[in-house]
Order: sequence, then C-alpha cells, then structure tokens
Amino acid sequence: MRDSLLRLTNFIDGDYCAPLSNAYLPVVEPATGKSFAEVPDSGAADIDAAVAAATRAQRAWAQTAPSQRAALLRRIADVIETRLDALAEEESRDSGKPVKVARSVDIPRAVSNFRFFAAMAESFVSESHQGEVGTLNYTLRQPLGVVGCISPWNLPLYLLTWKIAPALAAGNCVIAKPSEVTPVSAWLLGEIVQAAGLPPGVLNIVQGGGPRCGQALVTHPRIKAVSFTGSTATGGAIAAATATQFKKLSLEMGGKNATVVFADCDFERTVTESVRAAFSNQGQICLCGSRILVERSLLPRFREAFLAKVAELKVGDPRDPASDIGAVVSAAHLAKVQSYIALAHEEGGRLLTGGERLKIDGRCGEGYFLAPTVFDQLDAHCRVNQEEVFGPLATLIPFDDEAQALAFANSTQYGLACSVWTRDLARAHRFAAAVEAGVVWINCWMARDLRTPFGGVKHSGLGREGGLDGMRFFTEPKNVAIHC
Ligand code: NAD
Repeated sequence: MRDSLLRLTNFIDGDYCAPLSNAYLPVVEPATGKSFAEVPDSGAADIDAAVAAATRAQRAWAQTAPSQRAALLRRIADVIETRLDALAEEESRDSGKPVKVARSVDIPRAVSNFRFFAAMAESFVSESHQGEVGTLNYTLRQPLGVVGCISPWNLPLYLLTWKIAPALAAGNCVIAKPSEVTPVSAWLLGEIVQAAGLPPGVLNIVQGGGPRCGQALVTHPRIKAVSFTGSTATGGAIAAATATQFKKLSLEMGGKNATVVFADCDFERTVTESVRAAFSNQGQICLCGSRILVERSLLPRFREAFLAKVAELKVGDPRDPASDIGAVVSAAHLAKVQSYIALAHEEGGRLLTGGERLKIDGRCGEGYFLAPTVFDQLDAHCRVNQEEVFGPLATLIPFDDEAQALAFANSTQYGLACSVWTRDLARAHRFAAAVEAGVVWINCWMARDLRTPFGGVKHSGLGREGGLDGMRFFTEPKNVAIHC
C-alpha cells in the first residue's frame, strides 16, 4: 500500500507527462471510500498534443507490415500476462470488484483482446469481384488515421483494450480515454506498451472526465472515428456533438437485459446461472440480466431456489478471496442504486432479500457495499423494470406464455442482450429470432466468442464490435475497378 496520494499522468508520444490543464480529479477506492490517487482532468491542449503525436506516428504505423503489427500486439499481451496479479489488484482497488474477478476475467480478457486482434491483423481480408464486362473490382480497406477510444468504469482494461487492439491492428493510431473513475490499469498500460516496444505516438492515453477531456477528444477535427462504450445518455451526447463532423461512430451503450426462464428449463443450472447473470461484478456488467422473467407455474419453486443461491453470495472486502461481491463503484452510484431500491418500494414491489447498505468490518467500514437485492410483485412496465440501474438489484417477473415473455423482454428502450432458458429447441430458436437484442444466449450467459459481432439494438448500440466487424469499423473501404 502506498501511503501518499498517487498522482497519475497522461501517456503521450511514448512518455508519461503531466497534464497541460494542470487539473486533477480524485480517485476513490470504493471498498474504503477513501481517495488514494488523483487523475489528470485533461483538456483540449492535452488532446491536441496527443493527436499531434498520433498524427506524426500514423503513416509509419499504417505502413508497418501486418505481421509486425501482430507481433507487437502479441508482445503487449505477453507483458500484460506477466503483470497480471499487479494489474488485477489495481483494477480491484479503483473499481471495487473482487480481486479474484479482475484476475480471472478482466485482465485475462485484456490479454485475449490483444492476441485475438493480432491474429486478425494477419488474416484480415478484403473483397474482389470479377465484373461481367472485363473489369475487376477490389476493395482496399485502409486505416482511418487517428481514432478515439472511450471506455466506462465497469470493466476498465478489458473494454479499453477491446477497442485499442482492433484499432491498432488495422493500422490506426489511437487516443484512448479511460473512465476517470477507474483510471489506474489504463495508466499502467503506458508502461506495458513501452516495454513491448510499441513505437511512440501509436497509442496515447489521455486521462480525464467526460465534459472536458472526452468532449475535446470526440470533437477534435483530426479524430476520424470514435469507439465509445458507456451510458446511453453519453452516447447520445457524443452523437449530437459530432453530427456535423460526420465521424464514424461505434456506440456501445446501456441495457436492461431479460433472463427468460421457461418451466421446462434445466432447473439447477438455470438458477445458478441466473444468479450469476444478475449479480456478477455487483450487477455492473452491461450484459447482466436484471429482469428475470419466469413462467408463472415455475415461479414459486424458482424464487425459493434463487433466493437460496443469492444468500450464498458473500459480500466483502474485494481483497478477500472469499468475497463474491465487492463494493459498487462510487458514492454517486451507490446513491443511484439506493434510489431505485426506494423506487421499487414506492412502485409496490415486495422486497425478497437485501435492500440495505452493508457495513463491512475492518478497513472497509466506509465502503460502498450493497446487499444483493431482489424484488418481485413489480409490474413489468414500471420504472424499475424499464430503466437501467446497473447495480445489484434484480426483479422476478412472472409470465403466462411465450408471447407474453417476448412482449415483456422487448418492452424497454434497450436491446443489448437476453438469455433464454428452455429445453424446447424450437422455442429457443423462435425466441432468439424474435427478441430485440444484439446478443442472445440459449441456456448460457456471457458465453463470448471474439469472432462474433458484439453490440446492441435500439438504445443499446450503434454498430458492432469484435471480429471482422471490429476490424472493419477501423478501416475505410475504397473500391477500385480495373479494366482488363
Ligand atoms: P458514462 O457514459 O458516464 O461514461 C463512459 C465514458 O464516457 C467515460 O470515460 C466518461 O468520462 C466518458 N464521457 C462522459 N461524458 C462524455 C462526453 N460528453 N464526451 C465524451 N466522453 C464522455 O458511463 P459509465 O457510467 O462510465 O459506465 C456505465 C454505462 O456503460 C452503463 O450504462 C453500461 O450499460 C454501459 N456499458 C455498456 C457496455 C456495452 O457493451 N454496451 C459495456 C459496459 C458498460
């Protein structure tokens, strides 16, 4: 543990530097409620410096052979892997998630992101078409230039690298802006890419808040594309701020995902996985299933088993390997989730478990801990069941038949993910096709294959990330026809 306040810096042109803005924001450890670091609140001048460095580096990087780009990405992955434990500890410290989650999910997935897009850099293909009248058409897919990558606080390094890796693989230079709430692992990424030998300016990490640093990044005239993950409100603000600049945008936004449980499901597995889907990372994963729709005939048995499993979850110090649930990310977020618990009471819900802030003994006495909370008897269309809470709050909602389950699942403005639990294969396929979601899981949750297009529909997303879609987003197609 460091005693003094850690002062973070930006990473521009291959070096760490203090922000020209000379402004800082506190970084708080959610498990203790205490500030342990300060992060630059960079401004337009810092973004200008980063864009200038990226622009200088861009031509050479675009002309670097794909195999060499791939080798560098693999080296970055290797360095992350050698620092896995330290990164997991830092990521747990500023996010409040259990260290064991950061160690087993966040950091290994950041490693996979770089390895996966290294392979994509080597295997990326574009199209060619033989014309009817003696022409050959082919499509060049060229890097865009300098792009911006903005990430949220819930999966800090994992989501930032999910954007950085394809952008670099496709030959772009990057200005990355991590969440100001969880900046430490992204700050350490500077040292990692230095150690891996990435040329200066290819990746620049500018720290800061949304209104100042984020806004300066997305509206900078040399930023050709913005890949953003965060709330729907911010995604909308970015779309509005950049509309007249006609930038390429990929927006991964909020969700209010349904877990749909039919009476014929594999009961034990469904209960276990729906608890995991509701409460992993304190319910702070965009893919969490917070609305649990259960066929009415199964509801009494399901409720009992579900609550028994929730009771097994241990809320505690994120450093304790026995803790399943850590702290929610901030005091503001704690207040937001608590306000939805109050609203659930006002809307006539029945509290089945949780509902209160927990006091953890020892160093975590002032931490932002909430008991996993479950309500039932709330209307499927009430605010708690329509708005994104993004915390350890789940509701059980009965349905009478498949049509009603589908109507409930599709009733929100969001359309990110849905999981369906049934042994009836025809119904599973039917439901998957009809549900308004970009990602559907049948009898599983969070099964990810990096080759598949990832993203949401409706107010959850614009564009797709991952695989070929991720690479293509970061390139501009140019069609060339040759008379031959
Ligand atoms: P947020 O929208 O508040 O912030 C996300 C990022 O945007 C941060 O880095 C922030 O500094 C930046 N930002 C804020 N205002 C900006 C502006 N005007 N211009 C540019 N950048 C700006 O979101 P959050 O609270 O950090 O994260 C939680 C949200 O993220 C939830 O809604 C969750 O569903 C969503 N999320 C979505 C996905 C997905 O894949 N769809 C994944 C994870 C999280």
